[in-house]
Amino acid sequence: MAGIVLADGFGVKSGNPKLPDSPYEVHDGTRPQPRVVENAGAVVVKPPADAKVLFDGKNLDAWSSGKDAAAWQIVDGAMVAAKTDVSTKESFGAIQLHAEWRCPAGRKVHDQGGGNSGIFLMGLYEVQVLQSHNNKTYPDGQAASLYGQCPPLVNATTKQGDWQSYDIIFTPPVYDGETVKEPARVTILHNGIVVQNNKAYLGPTQHKTLASYPKTHPATAPIRLQFHGDSMEYRNFWVRPLGTYDQTTP
Ligand code: MG
Repeated sequence: MAGIVLADGFGVKSGNPKLPDSPYEVHDGTRPQPRVVENAGAVVVKPPADAKVLFDGKNLDAWSSGKDAAAWQIVDGAMVAAKTDVSTKESFGAIQLHAEWRCPAGRKVHDQGGGNSGIFLMGLYEVQVLQSHNNKTYPDGQAASLYGQCPPLVNATTKQGDWQSYDIIFTPPVYDGETVKEPARVTILHNGIVVQNNKAYLGPTQHKTLASYPKTHPATAPIRLQFHGDSMEYRNFWVRPLGTYDQTTP
């Protein structure tokens, strides 16, 4: 949702539903803050030869905003969030994803406001993007959280104005009819540090409510980047679709 700055979420109970297998509520501000790891830094990985490059600094051809052209802008080789979300024209299932993101220096950042975006895998599962260096919020809403579900193992965010890197390995849920056999899972390295280790999503991302899986689910879907009212920036955005090993391939 664009232009919405949430109320302070740090230090207070949320009043939202309780998470399963946890004493905490969705967006619980009393949940312990992840340990801070200083001196992390963006890991820049050049797209390998078999990558699908989704943004290389030159154009937004791989992206759209609904039926329209991508609403974001390119400034100094970065794609800059504006107006509404953007989604990839192509659909993906299991992927390795690399992206670098930045909250520009000089913006006022507080809690969920000022430095918020998100990478929605399959358009459904958010890896939160938030300027979380010296900016406390409810832990399941900070950078590299599975938003509304699971905080990162540690807080590897560096200071505002720095480029940050995400390396993400995602597998979609596996269904048997309308039954979820395997949940969606994600591993995330933030600035080179493991912050989510093969973590299961409770279901597609929700706000203030408990996530759960729908009865039907696409096999592949576009990646969506969130515009949350903040001019967050992305660069060097590529994915590698992950298939199964084909022994007939040399
Ligand atoms: Mg977000």
